[in-house]
Amino acid sequence: MTEERHIGYRPTWAEVDLDNLAHNFTQLKHFLAPQVKMMVCVKADAYGHGITQVANRLVSCSADYLGVASIDEAVKLREAGIKLPILILGMMHHKDIEALFDYKITPNICSEEVMQALDKQATAKDQPIGVHIKVDTGMGRIGVLHKEALKFIKKIHGLKTVPIEGVFTHLACADTNKDFTLHQIKLFKRLLSQLKKENIPVPLAHLANSMGLIAYKESHFDMVRPGLAIYGLYPKEGLEIDLKPALSLKTRVLYVKRVSAGHGISYGHTYVTKKKTTIVTLPIGYGDGYPRNLSNKAPVLIRGKRFKICGNICMDQIMVDVGDFSVEIGDEAVLIGEQGGNKITTEELAGLSDTIPYEIVCGLGSRIPRVYI
Ligand SMILES: *Cc1c(COP(=O)(O)O)cnc(C)c1O
Repeated sequence: MTEERHIGYRPTWAEVDLDNLAHNFTQLKHFLAPQVKMMVCVKADAYGHGITQVANRLVSCSADYLGVASIDEAVKLREAGIKLPILILGMMHHKDIEALFDYKITPNICSEEVMQALDKQATAKDQPIGVHIKVDTGMGRIGVLHKEALKFIKKIHGLKTVPIEGVFTHLACADTNKDFTLHQIKLFKRLLSQLKKENIPVPLAHLANSMGLIAYKESHFDMVRPGLAIYGLYPKEGLEIDLKPALSLKTRVLYVKRVSAGHGISYGHTYVTKKKTTIVTLPIGYGDGYPRNLSNKAPVLIRGKRFKICGNICMDQIMVDVGDFSVEIGDEAVLIGEQGGNKITTEELAGLSDTIPYEIVCGLGSRIPRVYI
C-alpha cells in the first residue's frame, strides 16, 4: 500500500492522470482550425479533478484561457501562480468587483449594474478592464437577451473604460436537439454581423462547449470552451473522438466475512443473501459524494472481476457480495477506472444513478484525496 504516504490512513483516493488530460486537449485541438483559441473550463475544482494541478498542466498544454464560475475560483488560480487569462462565466455581484482589478481577472457583463460598477471602478483606478459580454440565445439563465444585445453592447462600446474583448453565448441543448443548437448558432452569427456593421470589433466570439466543439464545426468562432471532454468524459455516446478519462476512483477491501443464506445487509436490509457468500466492506460512502442511489446497482472491480454493491450505501462504507471468490484484506477495489482489463466508466455510473457524468465527478468530496500521476 505504497500510496498511503500521499493519501492518509484511509485507503480511498481518486487518481488523476494528467497525461490523459493532455491527450484529450490534443484530441480536441485536432477539431479546430489553427487560429481558434481554447478556453478550458475549470470551474467546480476542475470538475472535481483539482483546480490548481489541472490548471498547471493546461498551462503546459498551451491553453489560451481558463473559465471559472466565480471570482473566488479565479483568485484561487491567481494565488497558485497561474498567469493565463481567466474569464468569470457566472454572475458577479456589482459590489464584488474590486478583486477583478487586483488579480487581473476578466469579468463577463450582462447587466447594467455590473457595467456601471466596472466603469466607475475602472475610472477611479484609471485602469481599463477588458470584458466579455454574455448573450442569451436560448439558455434562459444569465445573459442579455439576444434581441436586446446590440443595444447593450453599443452602450458598453461607448465606455472607454471597459473595452470589449469578447462576446459569448451558451448552448442549451447541444447533446439533445440539433435544430435548436443550429438556431442558437444562427442567432449568435446574426448578432456578430450586426456588430460588424456597427464597426464594433469583437476580438473573441465564443459559443462552443464540449459537445459543440466535437459535433458542430460551425460553432467554433474565435474560441471554444470545453470542460467535460478535457477530463475525458463524453457529452454523448457514439462521438468520433478518442478521449481518455482522467479520473479513477479507488479504495481497498478492509473487511471480509463469510455469511450464511438469509443474511440482511446494511440499513433497511434491502439486500438479503440467497446462499452462503462472502461480503466485503469498502471504506467509501455517500459522505464522499458516491451517490446513495447506486445502492444495489453499481459495479465494483476487485482482482479484475466485476461485482455489485449490495445493500444500501452508508455514509462511510459500502458492501460488495463477492460470492465464493477469494478476496483478501488490502485488495484494491476500483469504483471508476480500469483493473485487469475490465473497466467502469463515469458515464456508466451516471446512467445507473440517473444523472449526468458531470454530477458524478463534481460530487466527489474533499474527503477523497486526489493523487496525481
Ligand atoms: C461549464 C461551461 C462550459 C463547458 O461545458 P462542457 O459541457 O463541460 O464542455 C462552457 N461554457 C460555459 C458558459 C459553461 O458554464
